[in-house]
Amino acid sequence: MRFFEKINEIMQIITTKSALQEAVKACKAAGKTIGLVPTMGALHEGHASLVKRAVKENDVCVVSVFVNPTQFNNKEDLAKYPRNIERDAELLSSIGAHYVFAPTPEEMYSTEEMNSMFEFDFAGLDKVMEGKMRPGHFNGVVQVVSRLFYLVQPDKGYFGEKDFQQLAIIHHMVERSSMAGTFGNLKIIDCPIVREESGLAMSSRNERLSAEEKQTALAISKTLFDSLKWAKEEGATVADVQQRVIDAINAVEGLEVEYYEIVDQTTLLPTDTFNHAIGCVTVYCGPVRLIDNIKY
Ligand code: AMP
Repeated sequence: MRFFEKINEIMQIITTKSALQEAVKACKAAGKTIGLVPTMGALHEGHASLVKRAVKENDVCVVSVFVNPTQFNNKEDLAKYPRNIERDAELLSSIGAHYVFAPTPEEMYSTEEMNSMFEFDFAGLDKVMEGKMRPGHFNGVVQVVSRLFYLVQPDKGYFGEKDFQQLAIIHHMVERSSMAGTFGNLKIIDCPIVREESGLAMSSRNERLSAEEKQTALAISKTLFDSLKWAKEEGATVADVQQRVIDAINAVEGLEVEYYEIVDQTTLLPTDTFNHAIGCVTVYCGPVRLIDNIKY
């Protein structure tokens, strides 16, 4: 990745929890604010937008690069998830990150934690869309994110709207736990989706698409953008637009919609108005599962 200027020579890669906690302790003792960006690596400009913002808004930016096994309910998806820590480190160094936390699964979890299913209560936010299709996924996400919050004690945590449901669940978790004082004054920062010029939402999984599949996948974002116009047509209902999006994407050879749901941005429950609504889609492009969303 050569398109980022190299500006930072001071970045450190940390692989153990104890070294991370020591580094954090030193930052805190020096009165520095900390921004945390959790990632699973295979970084692209979408991730970079979060990191750049964290660098700008905090004295210290910690980026975790960890393919979290407990949030994968599909072993093949976990095995095939792209990994490239050298390239990630080069990118992160070039945009000013201070610490990269890249632990092994064994460092992160005990055997018991790795194998037992954590059950968190998300007030139903995890029962729809991604949560319905990937049972246990959000439990794994919250398991790793809450551990990272505990280890880093950040002032701010940065997350992308690309994973809108994940963001809603993390807000819920932090609001609930901050009542008990767990994460202090931690603020969650929502960051907009970064797209390729073509409109395709950037994703680590795009690396698994062939050039032809990548072209095919463009129909996903194009249809979502078209649906903004459909929603403004006279008499347009949420149900009609929802179905029209599904039909338009399914009409493209090589694409198969798993779900498209237009829901309320806060409750993630079905809505019959476009007010405060978001449409969330999951589409299989060949074997690769892609997600995207659009706000109405
Ligand atoms: P991941 O590595 O896929 O777990 O993503 C790490 C963080 O980057 C999550 O908060 C994602 O929502 C965010 N992210 C991933 N892709 C994008 C994108 N295209 N635009 C903005 N944020 C993104």
